[in-house]
Parts: sequence; C-alpha cells; structure tokens
Amino acid sequence: MTEREQLDLRRRRLTNGRQAMLQRFDSGCPISQLPITGAVESRPVLDESARTAAPFPDAQCVHSLFESQAKRTPEAIASTFGTESLTYQQLDDLANRLARNLHARGVRRGDLVAVHLERSFELLVAILAILKCGGGYVPLPTDYPVARRRFMLEDSRAVLVISLRAMPEGIVPAGCGVLELQGFDGRVDGAGLTATDLPRPEQDPSDVAYVIYTSGSTGEPKGVVVEHRSIARLVFGQSYARFGSDRVFLQLAPVAFDASTFEIWGSLLHGARLVIVREGPPDLQAIGALIRQHRVTTLWMTVGLFNAVIDSRPETLAGVEEILTGGDVLSPRHVQLAQERLGPGTRIINGYGPTECTTFACCYTIPHAVAQSTSAIPIGRPIANTRAYVLDELGEPVVVGVTGELYLAGAGLARGYLNRPELTAERFLPDRFAEEPGGRMYRTGDLVRWLADGTLDFVGRRDQQVKIRGFRVELGEIERVLEDYPGVDKAVVEARELAGAGKAIVAYWKANEGGRVVREELARFVRTRLPSFMIPSAWVELSELPLTSSGKVDRRALPEP
Ligand code: ADP
Repeated sequence: MTEREQLDLRRRRLTNGRQAMLQRFDSGCPISQLPITGAVESRPVLDESARTAAPFPDAQCVHSLFESQAKRTPEAIASTFGTESLTYQQLDDLANRLARNLHARGVRRGDLVAVHLERSFELLVAILAILKCGGGYVPLPTDYPVARRRFMLEDSRAVLVISLRAMPEGIVPAGCGVLELQGFDGRVDGAGLTATDLPRPEQDPSDVAYVIYTSGSTGEPKGVVVEHRSIARLVFGQSYARFGSDRVFLQLAPVAFDASTFEIWGSLLHGARLVIVREGPPDLQAIGALIRQHRVTTLWMTVGLFNAVIDSRPETLAGVEEILTGGDVLSPRHVQLAQERLGPGTRIINGYGPTECTTFACCYTIPHAVAQSTSAIPIGRPIANTRAYVLDELGEPVVVGVTGELYLAGAGLARGYLNRPELTAERFLPDRFAEEPGGRMYRTGDLVRWLADGTLDFVGRRDQQVKIRGFRVELGEIERVLEDYPGVDKAVVEARELAGAGKAIVAYWKANEGGRVVREELARFVRTRLPSFMIPSAWVELSELPLTSSGKVDRRALPEP
C-alpha cells in the first residue's frame, strides 16, 4: 500500500468512526458515552472477545476422551443406525480390534489414513481406530470423481485407505495400502485380534486428528489439518449448545464436511447417542421418523436444508431442543416461520465458522420471536476459547458498526494447510493481539461488523468464495478446470440467483482462436474433475469476455444465462 493509500484509508476510518458515533447519538446514546476516536472504542470489543477462555481437556487426545467415556458408560448406546445399535463398550472394542489390525499394517503416529466410507458404524469404528494408532483420518467421499479422489490420496500421502468395497481402478497411488472391511462387527481380515487397548504410542493433543479438504482457488482442493486439541475445544467448556449423556445427536453431515466434527465428537465424547442418517439425498420423511423415534435433541443443518424443511415440512423438526444451522447466511423469514411452527421448546442457533477454525467460531442463540422487520440474523459472539478480531486493511481494529475482515484465534485454529507452507503463511498470521507470544490468527476472508450489543453481523466475502447448497466453493477452482480443457482459452465462473434454482454456478468461457468447444463435451470433462456441487448449472460461450478499463474481467457485465 502506498503512503497515499494508507492516508486515504486512515481518513476513511475516521469518517467511519464519526458515522458510527453519529448513529449512536441518533439512537439516544448519552454524549458522555460516545466514543472519541475509533481506536478508543475498538479496545473494549477486543477485550471482550478475548475473555472467552474456559477450561477444557486440552491435554488429552480425542480417543482417550472417548475411552474414558466408554469406561464411565459402557452399556449406554453410543450409536444407532437403522435397526441396530452399538454400546460404548462395543464401539470401543471394535475400534481396538481394528486399531490392532491397522497397527499390524504399519500405521503409526503421524500417518494419515483415508476413510472411503459413508455414514455408518464402520466409519465410527475406523476413525476411532485410526486415532488410537496415533494417525489422522482423511475423509474421502465415495461419490467424488476418480481424479479428485486420486488427487486427495496423493496430496495427503495417505499410507492406507479403508473402504467397504474394492477401490475403483486408478484411484489408489503406489505406496498407499487398501484395507477392505467386511462389516462393522470386526470381520476385517485378521479378526480374532484382541479388543484390548493397543500399547499406547506416545501421543500429544497437538497431533493431527483429521484432514478435511476444501475447495482451493488455485485449481486444486487444499487439506485443512486439524489437531486433537481443536476437537476438544469444540465440544468442551462451551455454552452454545448443551452436551451430555442425556443428549441425542443426529449425524446428517457428510464426514468430509466439518459439521460432522460437532455431530460425532459432540455426542461420543459425552456419552450421548449418535443417530446415523443413511447417506443419500436428504429424505425429510425418514429424517422426521428418526427424530421422533429416537427423540433427537440436537442437530445441525445447513441453511439450505433448514429452509427447505421449513418451507415444506416444518413438523419434521418438532421436538428437537437445539437446531444449529449455518454454513451460509440465515434467512430471517425461515427462522421466524420455524419459531412459529416449533414453539419456544426449540432453540435455533446460528452456527458460523470456517473449517480452519474447527466447525464453529461464533454462535448466536436466536431470541424467541424474531421480529418481522429483522433483516439479518447475527452470527453472534466467539464461542469459548476463541477470539474474533475485526480489522481494516491496515490490520487495525475497526469501531462498532464499521465493516472489516474477520480474523479468528484460539484453540480451534487448524495447524494450517497440508504441505502448503506458503498458503498457510498467507492465511495464518502472527496474532499481534494475543497475550502470549507465538499465537496465530486466521484470516477468514469474511466481512463482518460488530453490533452495539457485542455480537457480529455477517456482511459478505471479500473474494470469489461462495456457498452452493452449503458447500464451500472457490469459483477460481472451477475456472482453472474449465481452462484445462483443450479448446478453452479463458473462463469465468459466477454464482448467480437463477429463477427456480436458487444460487447456481454459471460458467462463461471463450474458445481458443478459431477453435470450437462442444458444450456437452466440456461439461463431461468438468464432471470427471469436480464433485457434483461444483458442476455449473448454466453454460455460456462468449466470443469475448467483457473487460473493465483496467483490463480485468468485468464480472458485472457478464450476461444473464
Ligand atoms: P462450514 O462447514 O461451517 O460451512 P466451511 O469452511 O465450509 O465451513 O465454510 C466457511 C464459510 O462459510 C465462512 O467463511 C463463511 O463465509 C460461510 N459461513 C459459515 N457459516 C455461516 C453463517 N452462519 N452465516 C454466514 N456465513 C457463514
């Protein structure tokens, strides 16, 4: 930034500060309580956000926390799937048996093991067994294109992949073993291994627990590396939701998305019951039946699914005590409808957070009877052991009411991106507000502002990352794939509201000089590379891409599809 730009920015901040002050004055704030300058006012916000420290078991690994729970409540039901249930003791025994098997195959502390499994008992057994060996799990969705699954296996350097079926041709790189499970009851080859704990390797809560891949703007997905301690931070010492052995959680999120961290570990580390929803497109009738039959108390739903349920079958959610929804901007109208239909016995919570801060960073329990006039639902305050800073382009805290970028810090922060030191350094910065040296903060790319009551309001993104049906998508990743197609010269991808389809991906491209691109072939090529939620819904060939005066693609001038 030049000196001139810095000056401009400071001037803008002062103007913003003045505006915020006038707004407060207009709303009846006594003069004595008006802020004098932006810097003066921003301190209390930082201080308040820093006061989220709460005790949590930060010295234990996730599987040890599970084992202690299994010893406390061996006969309690840990999980239910279809007509079958597993007690804590059974789940722990099965995991020990599989852990012995993995250990015999050479899985050691620090190794990554891919799980090519859908929601099931096998999945729970597998991830527990991997952790028990000192390894980290890498969810590998069974419905991703072969090329993407192969990329994830190569990029993660997984030593082994656990699957229920034979792995498709061409996915497993050399050096990665395959373990085919025969069923959750331990009928893996080498059955007969004892179910007692493995001799415990030396382990530390800063070891890797899992790696979850998210869309990457440079054309390839990136693995977010999450440590044991961050999982404990999500589900202990918190007040955004209730945890305990009387809870019944629904497992609805795909394990490749980090809402599953809340569902799986939020229940299994507390002696609660995890009710597994069969994989596939959400079947509201089936979900409603599970909720009633098992008296589900707690569930997570992406905003898109929540809105769809409230529009078509709100009774599905009747009786649930805590509904956490988020992943995208909430719709006040749907929240209001839900409150009307479900009554005061149901708390609706806005859950906000990037994968890089382990599922939730901020939460907001929505007060009952949201007003008709509400235009936005805040994302709330940082949860325990999490700090939030709203900074301007110079990295200075902004005053209440002024939009800035959200930075997060605390025990939920991921270690970084797997094998991507430059990208990690770009997004995980030294935390200069931390009291202890060595702290880091994550730059979210989300634009937010503090509200006067100390909650945060979500404003938007500062880049080309969008949410499509709750899935995080970097438009740049789709653009790179389109440009990899031999006939395409340049591509631009946008997320647009399409009539009847909601937010959808639109692909624009310009063919090579004199070349010809057959749209169906291009679409087929893209489908071999990207998962279904990243496939454009509309395809538009342009003879020229519209440019701004500075020569960049003018996204606003792109035609409606
Ligand atoms: P999640 O699994 O929580 O959706 P992702 O890493 O996939 O996490 O996406 C994180 C991004 O999603 C955030 O940086 C933000 O842009 C958006 N997001 C998540 N939750 C919310 C929310 N409650 N309100 C608005 N945007 C949200």
